[in-house]
Amino acid sequence: MKLILLGPPGAGKGTQAQRLQESYGLVQLSTGDMLRAAVKAGTEVGKKAEAIMARGDLVPDEIVVGIIADRIEQPDCKAGYILDGFPRNVAQAEALDKMLAGKGTKLDAVVQLEVNDEILLGRIEGRAAQTEGGPRADDNAEALAKRLRVYHEQTAPLVAYYKQRGVLRGVDGMRDIDEVTRQIEGVLGLGEKKGKLA
Ligand code: AMP
Repeated sequence: MKLILLGPPGAGKGTQAQRLQESYGLVQLSTGDMLRAAVKAGTEVGKKAEAIMARGDLVPDEIVVGIIADRIEQPDCKAGYILDGFPRNVAQAEALDKMLAGKGTKLDAVVQLEVNDEILLGRIEGRAAQTEGGPRADDNAEALAKRLRVYHEQTAPLVAYYKQRGVLRGVDGMRDIDEVTRQIEGVLGLGEKKGKLA
C-alpha cells in the first residue's frame, strides 16, 4: 500500500505515519527527517538545504524528488510506504505520479489531516518548547508562520489535485491522536488487517 499523509506542519502527519508503520509494516518516508539527517551529516544535500529549511521555505524540487526516487527503490519499501511531507507542491506530485507510473504502480490513497490553523500554531509552539536538545531550527515563530504560508500557497492545491484523481480521503485531524488513527484506519479499510500488509 502506498499512501500520502497530507496536512500542514504540526497536523500530526509524523505521529500518524509512525503508528501506521508500527501496526502495518508500512515504511514512513519523511523528507523532513531525511533532510535534517543530511544537514546533520554535512552532506552536499544538507549544505544546500540547511538555510532554506531554517527560514521555512521549500528545498528545490529536484533535491527532494531525487531523495524519494532513491528511497522507494530500497527493499524495505516493497511492502508499501507512507509519504510524510512529500509531495509539497504540484510539480512534486506530478514527478511522483511519473515515478510510480514508470514502475507500473500508483498511489492507493492520500489521507488529508484536516486541522484548524490557530490551534495548530499552539501545537507547534508546544513542540518547540518540548523538543529535546533545543527546538528544531525551523520551530521559531517566524519560520513557523512562513511554513504555514508556504503550505497554503504551494501544498494546499494538492487537495484538489488528488480529489480530481479520486484518491483523496479526509479525516478530522483535530480529534485526539487515537481517534485520528481510528479514522485513518477506517478510510483505508484497514481495521482488521493489523500486521498483515507487510
Ligand atoms: P517537515 O519536517 O516535513 O516539516 O519539513 C521540514 C522542512 O524540510 C520544510 O519546511 C522544508 O524546508 C523541507 N522539506 C521537507 N519536505 C520537503 C519537500 N517535499 N519539498 C521541499 N522541501 C521540503
